[in-house]
This record gives sequence, structure tokens and C-alpha cells, in this order.
Amino acid sequence: MAATADDFVPDSRDLTELADAANSCKGCDLYLDATQTVFGAGPATADLMLVGEQPGDQEDKAGAPFVGPAGRLLDKALVAAGVDRDRLYVTNAVKHFKFTLPERGKRRIHKTPSRTEVVSCRPWLLAELDAVRPDVLMLLGATAAQSLMGSAFRLTAHRGEALHLPDSDELGADPTVVVSAHPSSVLRGRPEDREKAFEALVSDLRFAAGLLG
Ligand code: URA
Ligand code: SF4
Repeated sequence: MAATADDFVPDSRDLTELADAANSCKGCDLYLDATQTVFGAGPATADLMLVGEQPGDQEDKAGAPFVGPAGRLLDKALVAAGVDRDRLYVTNAVKHFKFTLPERGKRRIHKTPSRTEVVSCRPWLLAELDAVRPDVLMLLGATAAQSLMGSAFRLTAHRGEALHLPDSDELGADPTVVVSAHPSSVLRGRPEDREKAFEALVSDLRFAAGLLG
């Protein structure tokens, strides 16, 4: 069988130990070209966990999730929704940046991770979920949604719903799951659609926060 992160995930559910171990993951080929592993960030006591797709160019350099343009948009949406980022654990479905170099010296271009890469990296996400045990889990975009809800899951059909993980029994965790669009999709959309897309993200964040006690 091909390698997955399973071969690298320790038994520990201490977030610092998990992050340390993830630094030497070779569960798929993405570690070869990326600068570093970008593990999740936030307190183990967080009651709300957000999952994006994978680190972008700036996250890859900084070693922290959602610190580039998508992160700034997410921060704005969190402020608008009245959600404190300090109470969140923020991570990604895939922990290494996947990109293409169009030409030498040009900016690295984000590439969507393959299903195989998403599945390979999933053990890290499950370990984080087990370590944090959030009450509400918010999946941002199709990659995060399909990693945990299954490859047939259609994000657009389930926005605004309170869902559950299909394999919550095995996982021993059963957070309420909310899905939303990825913050990058707001940035990539047509300028005339941006405000509506932003408001929809804010509304999904409010809904997620409203599910917390
Ligand atoms: N996009 C993501 O999905 N995650 C990040 O951390 C940054 C951009
Ligand atoms: Fe390991 Fe995930 Fe990085 Fe692949 S993307 S090497 S599975 S941490």
C-alpha cells in the first residue's frame, strides 16, 4: 500500500507533539517541494474548529495556517460574524502546499490537492479532531468537506445545515458539522459577486457560532 500519514502520526494527542511529528511526515510526495509542514493552530480547548484546503504560498513560508490573503478575508468574516479567532482551532485538510512553477522566478501557483493526497493527509486531521474535540466543526470548501464527509459530498447542497460526520462512531468524536465556501472562492469570484459571497460566509460563521452553547 502507498504511504499515508498513518505511518507518521504518533499515539499522542498533545497538539505540540502532533505538530512536531507532522514536521517529518512523508505520507505523500507533497513534502518534497513545499517549504515546511503547516500544522493547525489554536488552543486544544477550542470549541470551534475550522478546516481549509491546504496552505497557500504565504502559509508555506510562515508555517502557519490562514495568514495570507484568504486568512485576511477569513479574519474580516470572523469579525463581521462576531467570532473571536482566539477561541478557534484552525487547520487544513492537507498540510503541505501544492503548487506549480509556471516559469523560473515566477510566483508559485496553487494546485488543488488530489483525492489521494487528501486521503493520505487525513490521519493528521483526524488526530487534530481527536485532540481538540470541538463542539462544532466547520469545513471550508469542497476539499475539507470531502475529506471528512466523503468524496460524493456536495457542498452546495448542504450549506446552512447542521450535519454529522459519517464515521463519528469510529472516530469517537461527534461534532456538529457545518459546511461553507472556501474564503479563497470569495476572492476569486467575479467582483460583482464578492459582497454576496462574503455575506454568505459571514452568515455560515454566525450559524456555526450559534450552535455553540
Ligand atoms: N487556503 C487554505 O485553505 N488554507 C490556508 O491556510 C490558506 C489558504
Ligand atoms: Fe504528510 Fe500531509 Fe504533507 Fe503529505 S501533505 S507529506 S500526508 S503532511
